[in-house]
Amino acid sequence: MIQNVKGTKDLLPEAIAKWQYIQSTLQKISEQYNYEEIRTPIFEKTELFSRSIGEVTDIVNKEMYSFLDKGEESISLRPELTASIARAVMQHSLLRQNPILRFWYFGPFFRYEQPQKGRQRQFHQYGAECIGSRYPESDAEIIALAVNIFNSLGIKDFKLAINSLGNTESRANYRETLIEFLKENENKLSKESQIRLQTNPLRVLDSKAEADIEILNQAPNILNFLDTESRNHFEELLAILDYQGIKYEISSKLVRGLDYYSHTVFEFQSHALGAQNAMGGGGRYDKLFLELGGEETPAVGLALGIERIILIMEEKGLFPNLEKKLDLYIVSLDHSNQKYLISIAEKLRQNGMAVATDLLRRSLKSQMREANKMKANYLIVIGDDEIKTNLLTIKDMRNGEQTQYSLNSIEEFFKKQQ
Ligand code: AMP
Repeated sequence: MIQNVKGTKDLLPEAIAKWQYIQSTLQKISEQYNYEEIRTPIFEKTELFSRSIGEVTDIVNKEMYSFLDKGEESISLRPELTASIARAVMQHSLLRQNPILRFWYFGPFFRYEQPQKGRQRQFHQYGAECIGSRYPESDAEIIALAVNIFNSLGIKDFKLAINSLGNTESRANYRETLIEFLKENENKLSKESQIRLQTNPLRVLDSKAEADIEILNQAPNILNFLDTESRNHFEELLAILDYQGIKYEISSKLVRGLDYYSHTVFEFQSHALGAQNAMGGGGRYDKLFLELGGEETPAVGLALGIERIILIMEEKGLFPNLEKKLDLYIVSLDHSNQKYLISIAEKLRQNGMAVATDLLRRSLKSQMREANKMKANYLIVIGDDEIKTNLLTIKDMRNGEQTQYSLNSIEEFFKKQQ
């Protein structure tokens, strides 16, 4: 038998209820913040991601699903959505219609990573992007949106780690000093960090290797390199979060992997997840539009990992009872009466009811068993007598009560129950 590809998962019907619950919460909160849904293609030109995320990042360098299509064009499955949204904003000149854009999205993403708990090759993200404002209130709005999502889902036990990379100049100054420091300690660094020192030195700060952590404790602190503009932005943001009562921890080693971040970067972390402790994160990307050949456009965004949110909610028992109830099961006593039964079912469905009938021509007993399994609220048995007398017996499965009703006006009975 052919199996699914490693690192992908089938979402079977029993899991879907949880996904729908989360999706409806995400949509509700996004709309409360006046964010509009955006859907862009699953694949894009590879260049879009290599130019925005950065050639030397793990995502572009090792993890992207890229292939040449039949027209010899290099195409990649999207590893994230910020670049695609920036492309769509420029392509459709959306900022000309509105100086501030607020978008949210939900969908599958693809990265060739080593699968483990909370890490897949096809995974799902919810994200939100606020495009057009350089002010810290937009950073605060994105962070508050995420905090509200966690609150609505009942996730309380998380940490918000926050840092500032400063503007391009402060980030570049810091980078130089960090490289100098790391070079002095190069021999003591882990193999991976030695490689990163050459390719993406800021990422060395992310290292979880014990040898590195000791050295990094002595590393220059990025926050000491912020110029006045960058410092003001960060302090204003923290003041808004303080005023809202949003708790955070300043984490000067948080850099996040992608090239396009400047100023604010943040991450939501949960102990419940183990090694892959990030539930989501984001930051400001004021230079991304410029790097993609557009006009400089300040923007800030975030992405949350849905599989990881589900892991936490399952572990903490945060899902409400999501059992789907069936309104009515119609039992057929004689299969020659199928057309009556089907027309009753259709009429009631058109009245908004969830109705099931047997498709396997099973015995009365098996149909009753199925109705019980489906937790039907009502049951009707239809045989020759019911059709002849035009009278149906409706059984309320919750209390056993029986009511007789005329076949022609059966929908009236159910309307009264609603
Ligand atoms: P990133 O775009 O890397 O900042 O990821 C944002 C969030 O998406 C992370 O915090 C994770 O929760 C989730 N995520 C990223 N990569 C994966 C993956 N391979 N499998 C599952 N979730 C992921």
